[in-house]
Amino acid sequence: MSKLKVIIAGAGLGGLCLAQILRRADVGVEIFESDSSPWDRPQGYRLHIDRDGVNALREVLPANLYRLFEATAMRPLPYTTIVDTTLKELRRISSGGHDRTPRHWLADGGPQHINVNRATLRHILLTGLQDFCRFGARMLRYETDAEGVTAVFADGSTARGDILVGADGIRSAVRRQRLPEARIMDTGVRAIYGRIPIEKARHHLPEHVLADVFTVASDDRRVFLGLGPVIFPARPDAASDRIAPEAGLFGQDDYVVCIVGGRREYFPGEDAMLRQAGGPALQALAIRMLEEWPAAAGAIPAQGDPSSFFSIEMHTSVPCDLGETFRVTLLGDAIHAMTPTLGRGANVAMRDAALLGHAIIAVERGEVGLALALTAYEREMASYGFGVVRESAFIGQGLMGQDSLAA
Ligand SMILES: Cc1cc2nc3c(=O)[nH]c(=O)nc-3n(C[C@H](O)[C@H](O)[C@H](O)COP(=O)(O)OP(=O)(O)OC[C@H]3O[C@@H](n4cnc5c(N)ncnc54)[C@H](O)[C@@H]3O)c2cc1C
Repeated sequence: MSKLKVIIAGAGLGGLCLAQILRRADVGVEIFESDSSPWDRPQGYRLHIDRDGVNALREVLPANLYRLFEATAMRPLPYTTIVDTTLKELRRISSGGHDRTPRHWLADGGPQHINVNRATLRHILLTGLQDFCRFGARMLRYETDAEGVTAVFADGSTARGDILVGADGIRSAVRRQRLPEARIMDTGVRAIYGRIPIEKARHHLPEHVLADVFTVASDDRRVFLGLGPVIFPARPDAASDRIAPEAGLFGQDDYVVCIVGGRREYFPGEDAMLRQAGGPALQALAIRMLEEWPAAAGAIPAQGDPSSFFSIEMHTSVPCDLGETFRVTLLGDAIHAMTPTLGRGANVAMRDAALLGHAIIAVERGEVGLALALTAYEREMASYGFGVVRESAFIGQGLMGQDSLAA
């Protein structure tokens, strides 16, 4: 029987990875998620997964679920290709070539770049955790004492454990209480995301767009168009029937994600209008943003599925000092949210989860004390996590006019 009970706030990619590794080691765990179901709201489409993410998933998932992840993951050519507004190729950058942050690998293995469908990956990570996951549970605050920690939820209920992990994303309630001085800043960049069905993509996009990790064009305002394919090696539903029927993955057709973004000044209307607009209106806005571009690129957002479009406001964390901790810790976007310029936020969140999982398992086995284990985890996590925040901000300033962290 487990000595420890870990409470995780947030069933995103990071929280679920942590729950997977703890369950495999028979550590007591309970996850509380504010959404009323895993499929409550659109969470984005394509995700770029790099070596941090692959290594973390290999560490946390049971063997058959890891095989399912591999079976549903596209292996693109490892390039980000820069094109001009006529779609003429300017440069092919080896993916990861932007990234000057030193990394510590959790496991061996060569460089890998993978494109996955976010909902498919989350579904794989949820597999086997249904009995430990409570949806519709929004954590408000916590109280600590000598024996443990109590999490308090919006419906008045509470949960008691030995450790509380804030995996509750960029607006983390756990971070607000633990580190009230930690700042999240608006970078001034907005973007509209949509999905282009594969048949239209094959017809309207250059061939390399369907093969590379990512393709991007921008104009002299730094308004940009980004394109990233998800071409499944096997359909997720068929792959799960074959490899892990308990996962019950949903079907999903191949697609190319289409992103139109830039500084807020170039978006007509206020943020409130962007937040309220439905898919077709956002698609129309994306088309308008590129109306002065030559038709080959300017017409691309029109190929998307109108209902698939949504908008985001890009925010970033500002690196800060975490000090010492006991019982309450953080992972992923809850502490080091970053702009998606390097496509690394989810990878770093999953790396945190694997690292923290090992630290908690060592405490469970009596190999190290709780305060020491959590403080060592946080020191390492903050060092690489804030490193990637700075790198993403630096690249984001050049590519899309993101405000600097100093601002
Ligand atoms: C458009 C876009 C594209 C991106 N592309 C990439 C990419 O290609 N590669 C990459 O690595 N990263 C990418 N990222 C970043 C990546 O999505 C995040 O870094 C990643 O999701 C962080 O995972 P997380 O588990 O820390 O947080 P989240 O995924 O945000 O999960 C947090 C969870 O906590 C829940 N929650 C929130 N508050 C509470 C509460 N009070 N109580 C209980 N539950 C709560 C939320 O509902 C959510 O389910 C992208 C981000 C965006 C916006």
